[in-house]
Amino acid sequence: MRKRMLAGNWKMNKLNGDLAAFFAAFGNAVTGDAAVAAAERVDVLFAVPYTLLAQAVVAAAPWGIRIAAQNLHADPSGAFTGEISIPMLKEAGVTASLIGHSERRQFFGETDATVARKTRAALEQGMLPIVCLGETLVEREAGQTEAVVKRQLAAVMEALPPGPVADAMVLAYEPVWAIGTGRSATSQQAEEVHHFLRSQLSTHLGAAAAGQMRILYGGSASPANIAELLAQPDIDGGLVGGASLKPDDFARMVLTAL
Ligand code: PEP
Repeated sequence: MRKRMLAGNWKMNKLNGDLAAFFAAFGNAVTGDAAVAAAERVDVLFAVPYTLLAQAVVAAAPWGIRIAAQNLHADPSGAFTGEISIPMLKEAGVTASLIGHSERRQFFGETDATVARKTRAALEQGMLPIVCLGETLVEREAGQTEAVVKRQLAAVMEALPPGPVADAMVLAYEPVWAIGTGRSATSQQAEEVHHFLRSQLSTHLGAAAAGQMRILYGGSASPANIAELLAQPDIDGGLVGGASLKPDDFARMVLTAL
């Protein structure tokens, strides 16, 4: 049985001054038995901007919420101006990171190769990578969805360190055309790709590991559609942008995932 995960992605939003009110509002919405159930049944985390990481770790701790980075550099230190290493993130109390979000691929030149390298580094250093993949609208309309996600996944799989990884990493299928557009994939479209990814995982890692690894859906997930998405057999949670900025909306999604 895979434990569900709801991961918020705040992108380049919010300031440290917003944290206390956000987590108080979230905490007020998920209280009592629901809070106990949430802790047991759903992993909740927020990927926040670098400047918020250390304070967010403290602010989120009372609710058992983990804080993630939105990116990392594969090298532990060095002449990489503007970058952040895994030891730096760990020092701030961060235990997970998005890797290869489509906005990183689209606007900051991340390739399958850099995503693979970062994933390997994260696994080697005990940081949970949430590896994002997904097709653009042009690729979907050209019938290339499976070919694209197969290629993106294969790059990561071929770079894995030795040893079991099924519980140590998470995949996030995020069709680029659904991110921030208000146009979510239908639950059927999402399930088709999740199912395909799980079959690919089976080819790379074997059936047991493929059955264990969590695959999140991302792309305009909201309180309105999360129940239907989570009802699909291969969808294990959500990577949530816009709706994660609103504590009440995100809390409703967590309560739906219980
Ligand atoms: C995301 O940032 O990964 C995302 C899915 O954004 P949104 O939920 O706003 O589409």
